[in-house]
Amino acid sequence: MNPQKKIKPTNSLNITIAGTGYVGLCTGVCMAHTGHNVTCVDIDEQKINLMKSGKSPIYEEGLEELMNLNKERLTFTTDHAMAYQNADVIFIGVGTPEKKDGSANLSYVFSVAKQIAHNVKKDCVVVVKSTVPIGTNDKVENIIKSELKEQVTVHVASNPEFLSQGTAVRDTLHASRIVIGVENEYSENILRQAYEGFSDVPIIVTNRRSAEMIKYASNDFLALKISYINEIANLCELIGADIEEVAKGMGFDDRIGNKFLRAGIGYGGSCFPKDTKALHWLASFHDYEIKTIKAAIEVNEQQKFKLFKKSRKYYENLEGLTVAVLGLTFKPGTDDLREAPSLVNVPLFVDDGARVKVWDPIGSGTFKKQMEREWNKELLENVKYCETIESTLLGTDICFIFTEWPEVKALTPKDFITTMNRAIILDGRNSYDLNTFIGTGVIYESIGRSVIG
Ligand code: NAD
Repeated sequence: MNPQKKIKPTNSLNITIAGTGYVGLCTGVCMAHTGHNVTCVDIDEQKINLMKSGKSPIYEEGLEELMNLNKERLTFTTDHAMAYQNADVIFIGVGTPEKKDGSANLSYVFSVAKQIAHNVKKDCVVVVKSTVPIGTNDKVENIIKSELKEQVTVHVASNPEFLSQGTAVRDTLHASRIVIGVENEYSENILRQAYEGFSDVPIIVTNRRSAEMIKYASNDFLALKISYINEIANLCELIGADIEEVAKGMGFDDRIGNKFLRAGIGYGGSCFPKDTKALHWLASFHDYEIKTIKAAIEVNEQQKFKLFKKSRKYYENLEGLTVAVLGLTFKPGTDDLREAPSLVNVPLFVDDGARVKVWDPIGSGTFKKQMEREWNKELLENVKYCETIESTLLGTDICFIFTEWPEVKALTPKDFITTMNRAIILDGRNSYDLNTFIGTGVIYESIGRSVIG
């Protein structure tokens, strides 16, 4: 990625983005980078003030830099009337979190639809970028039609997002594809114009329902791939095969591909867990059971506790022990903790009697805030947030690795041996070559590979 260079000059549109999260902000900033005038609107005043001062409220490589580079074409506001009234295109990028029953909570999307209907003053295209169940675009259209205050035409189009957190800016500027789900040519043309600057990206035009389905089918397939390789890894442990070798051998087959074949302690994040459950819910609503996705969800739930179960081999329980946890976020390169395995494991360790020392280069603050909201005093008192990996490992009896941050991958056996009481490492991300630990005195267990030491 070269952020200094605009991708291609473009016929500038007035674009508004509702929601400045990972998707909304990256889309807004990248659209401004290709020459459009972009207004980003959010209900969170704190976030808007941060962005006005040139700071990104989320951590994504290159995002803040690109935001400041294009600041003359970017406006940040909490004023919905101002944001929507003159827009040619309005992208909805608000959250669609999981409800208790597994279905998607669409209240944020519907509330934006109403705000748009109350404030637009000219014809425009409303584009649903949030991940939404099939048929939601129709509902958004109905809400807007019934709530419109002015005599204007508002078209609704689907344009799901495929970026990955940790590489969001690169994924937006150089997307694998742009899916446009439309019911008329006008919407297609405006969206093509909006994406004109993203010159090398293939555009796939479908109807709205297919576009909505492409997003779920893609995400759920990736989740399925992860759960599949994790099950194969679990079996590898039982029969003495090595998952890294197995995955490598599989990946040479073009029909399989070599991505998403990394075994570990399961997927987390804001998308796979909720999108698998939402599609499963949607299928059952239509009296259909999508068995493969159900299995992917179940495998992932079990996989999160894999390291905790492994620890039983070394200690009957964690009573009186000091435990090191390296990595809290659901993957490296992001500050996002949503559905991260650390969230369920750290309380489990404390309940089991341990004092837990945790380290993460970006996620500790968010983790602490979330824990202060959710945990009781005893849990909170038994977790210590460390500034360095060395101080985290110092005097500990076992180490759990939940996120393969580069700083973690750079550690050597000596780093563990010289600091820990007993150098037992349980690695949920297969961060090291097995040979690294042979003959070093470290006990090293990972996922789907043999135990060293
Ligand atoms: P997020 O939670 O990071 O951000 C959502 C933002 O919307 C928040 O800042 C919130 O304050 C704002 N918001 C809520 N109501 C609003 C309103 N009425 N007007 C304006 N702003 C409002 O969410 P996200 O992770 O960016 O995800 C957004 C959507 O994109 C979800 O549907 C998600 O499934 C989908 N998606 C996410 C990713 C990802 O990696 N995060 C990737 C692809 C698709």
